[in-house]
Amino acid sequence: MSIENCDVIVMGCGGIGSAAMYHLARRGLKVLGLDRFHPPHAQGSSHGDTRIIRKAYFEHPNYVPLLHRAWDLWEVLARESDLPLIERRELLMSGPPGSEVTAGARQSARLHNLPLQDLTWDEARKSFPMFKLPPDHDVALESTAGFLRVEDCVGAYLDLAQAYGAHLRCGETVKKISGAPGQLSVQTDQGTYSAGAGVLTCGAWTSQLLPDYARLITVRRKTLFWYPIQSAVWADRVAAPIFFLDLPEGQFYGLPSIDGRTIKTGEHTGGETVTDPSAVTRSILAVDERPVSRFVSERLADIESKPSRSAVCMYSMSPDGHFLFDQLSDLPLVVGAGFSGHGFKFASVLGEVAAELIQQGRPSLDIDFLSVNRFARRAAETKQP
Ligand SMILES: Cc1cc2nc3c(=O)[nH]c(=O)nc-3n(C[C@H](O)[C@H](O)[C@H](O)COP(=O)(O)OP(=O)(O)OC[C@H]3O[C@@H](n4cnc5c(N)ncnc54)[C@H](O)[C@@H]3O)c2cc1C
Repeated sequence: MSIENCDVIVMGCGGIGSAAMYHLARRGLKVLGLDRFHPPHAQGSSHGDTRIIRKAYFEHPNYVPLLHRAWDLWEVLARESDLPLIERRELLMSGPPGSEVTAGARQSARLHNLPLQDLTWDEARKSFPMFKLPPDHDVALESTAGFLRVEDCVGAYLDLAQAYGAHLRCGETVKKISGAPGQLSVQTDQGTYSAGAGVLTCGAWTSQLLPDYARLITVRRKTLFWYPIQSAVWADRVAAPIFFLDLPEGQFYGLPSIDGRTIKTGEHTGGETVTDPSAVTRSILAVDERPVSRFVSERLADIESKPSRSAVCMYSMSPDGHFLFDQLSDLPLVVGAGFSGHGFKFASVLGEVAAELIQQGRPSLDIDFLSVNRFARRAAETKQP
């Protein structure tokens, strides 16, 4: 394919964009992908070995149909690439009575008929002695959960997209997007490209290209840590679950050991605002480590209290914590942004949705609840007498 003659330009080929490239190219469209770095890379939001995938979605039940399809598509990718990209594991969720985490997961499970086991604090303590949960905690155990190997997923999507004929240009930064219905022009630091349509999935950098999104996205600096394990139980595929704990000091998540030596954990809440994602502080500060090391010593057993590895990542937060996924009306552009720290598990299905929007103008699954218009709709509803 000549890069002057493409159907779709994908801008930002990380978590969501790599999947969009694959789905578009697999449908026979001529695709050009542009990325300022060389994905998979550690500069954006899709790195750090693993990402949790789960179905009893506490954030909102509307995500569940997308999650069923996402899981199937990850399995398709694993088969097609012949890589162990997804692994099923139990997920232990806990919080005080009425916690958004356990109550929300139960609501999704009830509405979508998903298996979710309630545990008393005593049952949780006996089955999972590696946790020191507060005694008033309400505990739920999900079996329809697991983790994805994040960099390998991005790499697999990009490799297969190219095998289907897509062209990927790395180290090239998009500077400006313009056009009219059916015609898109993309200016980069190295040239100008045109196509019939585009997908913009630039993660933390989205507002630099679409200034209207600046009022919708707040970028947060997030840190994650790997702590050495002192007991082999943390590396046991059956005994050690993924966890998400809603504690008075914050929400903390973690994944059991995949290297046999460490577990990965981090705080889902908090994180300082980033004004320029290219200038985010990459070194780890004492203030980053302190709350997580405290969580590890107070709430987990048989783990060393000092991390042996760390990384800096970014969340792109929307105003309500739900994604911003839309086809624009003034430009032939699908925009996926504001993934608010829980978007990677959806990359497989959102890549497919982007391809459907471009090829047939509408998706086969409901994504209306992710439309940017929801904010205007809500504002109009509250104004009505
Ligand atoms: C610490 C951490 C833990 C997380 N845990 C989970 C989890 O367990 N489960 C889950 O589902 N989600 C999780 N998430 C969220 C999830 O990882 C993100 O929502 C998802 O990876 C976002 O993907 P993205 O494609 O929007 O961004 P990215 O993967 O960062 O991709 C954006 C791409 O755009 C490129 N780009 C930017 N600007 C330009 C430009 N001007 N020109 C060209 N290219 C450009 C960048 O180089 C990058 O490759 C976590 C996130 C973090 C940070």
